Amino acid sequence: MAGRCLIAFLIMASCLSVFVSVSVSGQLPGDLFALGVASRLRVDGNWTARASSDFGRIVTAAPEAVLHPATPADIAELLWADVLRATLEHGLAPRVWTDYLRITVAGTLSNAGIGGHALRRGPQIANVLELDVITGRGDMVTCSRDKDPDLFFAALGGLGQFGIITRARIGLEPAPRRVRWARLVYSDVVTFTRDQELLISKQDGEASFDYVEGQVQLNRTLTDGPKSTPFFSDADITRLAGLASESTSGVIYFIEVAIYYNESTITSVDQKLEAILEQLSFEKGFVFTKDVSYVQFLDRVREEERALRSIGMWEVPHPWLNFFVPRSRILDFDAGVLKGVFAGANPVGVILMYPMNKHTWDDRMTAVTSDDDVFYAVGLLRSAVAAGDVVRLEKENEAVLAFCNNEGFGCKQYLPHYTSQDGWQRHFGAKWNKVVELKAKYDPHGILSPGQKIFSPMKTII
Ligand SMILES: Cc1cc2nc3c(=O)[nH]c(=O)nc-3n(C[C@H](O)[C@H](O)[C@H](O)COP(=O)(O)OP(=O)(O)OC[C@H]3O[C@@H](n4cnc5c(N)ncnc54)[C@H](O)[C@@H]3O)c2cc1C
Repeated sequence: MAGRCLIAFLIMASCLSVFVSVSVSGQLPGDLFALGVASRLRVDGNWTARASSDFGRIVTAAPEAVLHPATPADIAELLWADVLRATLEHGLAPRVWTDYLRITVAGTLSNAGIGGHALRRGPQIANVLELDVITGRGDMVTCSRDKDPDLFFAALGGLGQFGIITRARIGLEPAPRRVRWARLVYSDVVTFTRDQELLISKQDGEASFDYVEGQVQLNRTLTDGPKSTPFFSDADITRLAGLASESTSGVIYFIEVAIYYNESTITSVDQKLEAILEQLSFEKGFVFTKDVSYVQFLDRVREEERALRSIGMWEVPHPWLNFFVPRSRILDFDAGVLKGVFAGANPVGVILMYPMNKHTWDDRMTAVTSDDDVFYAVGLLRSAVAAGDVVRLEKENEAVLAFCNNEGFGCKQYLPHYTSQDGWQRHFGAKWNKVVELKAKYDPHGILSPGQKIFSPMKTII
């Protein structure tokens, strides 16, 4: 692609946990000794306890060993924020971002890496050119679409089951300097989804946004939640709450969009924004815009994180549920979940709902999507802030999943969690046999990411 450059990142780590388990007998598999990492494994309680919880703050699971890599060739970790910093020094940036940058490259590539940039380019895993992977057999393999493709595609969205990613080569492009960032408000789900689908159907070269996401806002979140936010002023929130209270369901929706530009193209960005807005049917007068630097836009959740940390609302349990809903069932989902299961709920947090094009995902990857050509990423990103919230929110999540299953929506969990192999088998569907085959090939002892409970320890693999 013209103007596109490539940079290979060696991902280096200070600490990597969870992925390596000792065998049932308490002995390290011989492959790990061969790899020379055994001397850097810590098994004492001080180390394993420190690596036993995460952002969710709901489950604790002490790993059996914690690995401390010591050299660049060791197993590694890099955060996306570091990638942004390093690439901007060359005037370049990756093409697809997650909403939050303080998560690791390898961790997101093991899931998918989704966000509002995926509309034409697909998830982060669709933008990877090459990986270095240490398999469960202890082999260090450089793989790509052409070289050891089965390991390459297995590792992308592979939930850490087939190998540990230590290097990723990803596509970059010239970084813009400025972002025109807007939120458009809707009180009607049909118009909201129709406009979102129109926006993601635009091709490169057409007047289109560089980023498209959507959020659902329940009235009570507006009236009872924190007032001003990094995007909306107090006065904006009052107007939005007024709009929500006029709608029978109390639910309103935002499409969040962005156009990238440089100072020299400031006039044309205004024209471009106007031309696209003319095609949309948001509530008249309910368009809110901001002009920010590229880094401010990409790191926007960091600002929210700081605000939440300052009031003690960041380090709380997060019973989050993410899944993909086929386009053909999104209106049923809206009626049954947002206006059904959640009727009367008072969530603290964010509900995301935005469409993606299935053709931008490569079906050879382990990552699973739902079936329609267009499907919605729905993120119920709620925080437990009061006594009893964790139990209540988890029950609501279960009710949502049960409702979707009973109605036969064909939803697929993103960042999936199942407690039985049956659940995983249903999750992977037609990919299940391939997943089993690749696990036996690349991690025959079942030592990688056993906490996912996809495979029973050892016996089903060998
Ligand atoms: C605040 C927040 C915001 C988020 N926003 C987004 C978002 O916008 N879009 C999105 O797509 N996701 C998002 N996520 C989810 C994120 O992609 C996953 O949680 C991801 O696993 C984070 O990587 P990690 O290394 O921090 O996780 P870890 O907890 O360290 O790892 C999670 C799993 O990833 C696998 N893994 C990690 N490192 C490796 C490796 N080196 N090799 C192989 N497998 C590995 C393992 O299976 C491991 O169990 C968000 C998460 C948080 C906490």
